[in-house]
Amino acid sequence: LETLLREGRYKLPLPVRIVGRGLDGLEKGLGLMRQGQPSIAAGFTNAVTKERVRYDEVKEHAVSISTALTRKFGFCQGECVALFSSNTVWYPVAMFATIRIGGMISGASPAYNVEEMTYALKTSKARILMTAASALPVAIPAAKNAGIPQDRIILLEGRHQGFATIHDLIKFGRGFGAGGQTPALKIKKGETNKWLCGFLSFSSGTTGLPKAVMISHHNVMAQCLQVSQLTPKDHKKILAVLPLFHITGLVHQMHTPVCINAEVYMLPAFDMKTMLDTVVEYQISELLLVPPILIRLLRDPIVKNYDLSHIRRFSSGAAPLSAEVIQELQRRFPQTGFKQGYGMTESCSCITAHPIEQSTYEYANRVGSIVANTEVKIVDPETGTELGYGEPGEILARGPQIVMGYLDNEKATAETFDSEAWLHTGDVGYIDREGFITITDRIKEMIKVKGIAVAPAELEDLLLGHPMIEDVAVGAIADDYTGQRPKAYIVLKPTFREGKGKEQVLALLRGVIQYVQEKKVRHKWITEVELVKEIPKSASGKILRRVLRQLEQDANIQ
Ligand code: ATP
Ligand code: MG
Repeated sequence: LETLLREGRYKLPLPVRIVGRGLDGLEKGLGLMRQGQPSIAAGFTNAVTKERVRYDEVKEHAVSISTALTRKFGFCQGECVALFSSNTVWYPVAMFATIRIGGMISGASPAYNVEEMTYALKTSKARILMTAASALPVAIPAAKNAGIPQDRIILLEGRHQGFATIHDLIKFGRGFGAGGQTPALKIKKGETNKWLCGFLSFSSGTTGLPKAVMISHHNVMAQCLQVSQLTPKDHKKILAVLPLFHITGLVHQMHTPVCINAEVYMLPAFDMKTMLDTVVEYQISELLLVPPILIRLLRDPIVKNYDLSHIRRFSSGAAPLSAEVIQELQRRFPQTGFKQGYGMTESCSCITAHPIEQSTYEYANRVGSIVANTEVKIVDPETGTELGYGEPGEILARGPQIVMGYLDNEKATAETFDSEAWLHTGDVGYIDREGFITITDRIKEMIKVKGIAVAPAELEDLLLGHPMIEDVAVGAIADDYTGQRPKAYIVLKPTFREGKGKEQVLALLRGVIQYVQEKKVRHKWITEVELVKEIPKSASGKILRRVLRQLEQDANIQ
């Protein structure tokens, strides 16, 4: 290892850090819901309504519900239950019920419209849809489009005439008595759980349509062990403000808590006041958030009304966080630590994260070091050659959390997961000599100016430091001479927005162009600036560049 590192070849044929229990531990973890003794102390709590289900009750209910699924609907191993709801304590119950009998769950964003939900149901081939009464206006037509009969729509929250609830299923399953309940799927030790798919998780759809990613029991348990190794032993209270349908929620808010026996405080939706009330009421000391929420934490005036001095660590992931925001966080919350996690749906969440000792602002601009039993190498995306320290290239990762592939999409699977089991992340980054990774951009988003790759994130970072700019996105526009060139979409700070004449605005914009010219080499110069009201972003804070591209195309047509 020493030699390899000295030679600057990035293939870290590690484990850099080893999970003590190795694969035996993974098998044991999988048995947790099946035959283990779940905790009678911890559980899932709805932080708003205070409704609570302890982990031993989760298991008991999961047994009854899975019995109902098989007896009432003839549900079989390998079939899918779609979960379409905001966060509720019944979400994990439904999930564990499905996977204990070898079924798959597929979470869908509660913000989906009928068309998006129809796509999700058809792609996952869901046979049952669990949802909330408030989501029925979308759920009913989408289920109809996907051929799911109405009696297979079950309500996790709320009531509605003619629809069964999860409580009805529990009652029905319980009716078969201890002897008549459906047994958990028997999983042999060894390879079996490696290929038993329990989750069809949709990627965020930042670069194209969301892809249905097949995640095995083995993947999730491996990831739980990897992240619990990086969790302080006394971390027993988890805030679940991120959506449960996304990989982050699935791993960090539903599975890991059960593994480390921590209480989960669920928020049905994000709302600053409710979040802060919860954090203070339960004295939650580590907060897993995403960049837009961290930014709100810095801007929202109500934050000042709360004593947050008990917070020991912020944790961020799912999207890039600018250096500006990190600095501001440090200024406002100097007593806290800070960590990031980097990964993707295809890596069942984390490839890298900050170890406890390095969870400080000093390391915050990097996304952490590699998690246990995982290898990372950086390659030139065009030639595939491995690169050295500090040289940016595509991040490739291999490990027990790397998922099975995309559902019914062999082509995309073969492109993303190569024959040596490396996941091609599509992200650009580099490894430094401390073994930490910095993400610089995404391959699909690189702007090619005369064949030279320009990273939009680099220009965005620079522009966010400009005193007039509130938010910014950099995209590519076609150019006959250079191929592509960078264009900035800018949201001005309110003080610069109001009461300005056309000439003044033009002068401001020329100033922005000049600002980049002073600080960057020629091929990175911004040649066009457009003022916009807001930057299109996903819920986790990623710039939706496909929306920018569409705007550009539409403008060209006009
Ligand atoms: P799609 O694949 O459908 O276009 P997506 O890649 O945004 O969408 P996810 O799997 O939810 O969907 O997100 C993974 C991506 O998020 C990573 O590939 C990376 O680009 C970005 N990401 C995750 N964590 C971080 C982080 N800590 N810093 C910067 N970027 C991150
Ligand atoms: Mg992706």
